[in-house]
Amino acid sequence: MSSESESPSIFSRIVAREIPATIVRETDRVIAFEDIAPKAPVHVLVVPKTEQYRDVVELAAGDPGLLAEIVATAQSIAEERAEGEFRLIFNTGENAGQTVFHVHAHVLAGGLKE
Ligand code: ADP
Repeated sequence: MSSESESPSIFSRIVAREIPATIVRETDRVIAFEDIAPKAPVHVLVVPKTEQYRDVVELAAGDPGLLAEIVATAQSIAEERAEGEFRLIFNTGENAGQTVFHVHAHVLAGGLKE
């Protein structure tokens, strides 16, 4: 996928209901939906509605409260679906596997033992 510099991002288009997604949480500032290509029994993306932060480093510097809301949302989803245990991944940079430059947390859970 070549999403660098795409605006609106694919995730903003999900927020706007321009493309479909299975949404599992939504607040004023955050949306969470099922990843289209799940890599674990639970694989949800938690995304700030604003696309102004390209990665977690920018988000942490610019709005730590919003980052905390993303972590709390991940925890809430994992409580509901995986007894509160989860892996939280922010791919940061192209060489680290980031393809969508609108910051997003991967919440992975369920049967992860490695
Ligand atoms: P990677 O593609 O290597 O996982 P990212 O960390 O940038 O890189 O993650 C983007 C994620 O967005 C991927 O897991 C991908 O499956 C997911 N994705 C892309 N398009 C959609 C979509 N329309 N609905 C849900 N998830 C999507």
